[in-house]
Amino acid sequence: MSRKKLIAANWKLNPSSREEAIDLIENIKIGLKNIDVEENINLTFCLPFIYLELIKNSLKDTPFKIGAQNCYFEEKGAFTGEISALMLKNLGIDYVILGHSERRSLFNESSEIINKKISVALKNNLLPILCVGETLKEKEMGITEEIILSQLEESLAYINCNGENVIIAYEPVWAIGTGKTCSSEDANTICKLIRSKLADLYNSSIAEKTLILYGGSVKSSTIKEQMKQTDIDGALVGGASLIADEFVQLVNNC
Ligand code: PEP
Repeated sequence: MSRKKLIAANWKLNPSSREEAIDLIENIKIGLKNIDVEENINLTFCLPFIYLELIKNSLKDTPFKIGAQNCYFEEKGAFTGEISALMLKNLGIDYVILGHSERRSLFNESSEIINKKISVALKNNLLPILCVGETLKEKEMGITEEIILSQLEESLAYINCNGENVIIAYEPVWAIGTGKTCSSEDANTICKLIRSKLADLYNSSIAEKTLILYGGSVKSSTIKEQMKQTDIDGALVGGASLIADEFVQLVNNC
């Protein structure tokens, strides 16, 4: 089955000003002008909340989509500092990253919380990119598969995946922002495991349709090999998405 590839840029807490954000997106746009991106892959930029509208306007004449990096699980009310899925939808946002390992480890988000967030994202027609991945300690303990399966099971509890409404990203925590890439073969093995778990939780046709991305120090020099794998349908890209030339090259190499 052929699944259209997705590259999701995760800008994290960058850059520090509107000017820099515009500069970055404009340089990426210029670099991608001559590539028929839409024909071959989908591209989304997952941004700090404060730049969503700004960058959405910059991309209005392009096929590129916009995503957030988080949302709260309540739609409105007394939740100071939070942003709801409903607000994102009303702003015309398409994707939302949920369960990123930085949210799990630095902000204590459990799979139970992530599950509630996925549920509210779907209710508001946002496409969640659910991140799962093992830490270095878990890898060394030989429990990678166990961790991935339980994160999937808990994060997707009572979620009605149909193959098109939820994207999974396998992100080994030890490979995020460290320059250490998981070998393409090992990443593919885990992506296959994720697909077979989706077949168990739902059915094989839903599993076959679901996009499964790899994330963790993806660069223009690694992407070709990663995209050749049978079960890797794209990438979640952090650091490399903040350097216009590097990101353009990465997309080109897809
Ligand atoms: C990420 O932000 O999800 C990520 C994978 O970051 P990096 O590409 O920098 O490792």
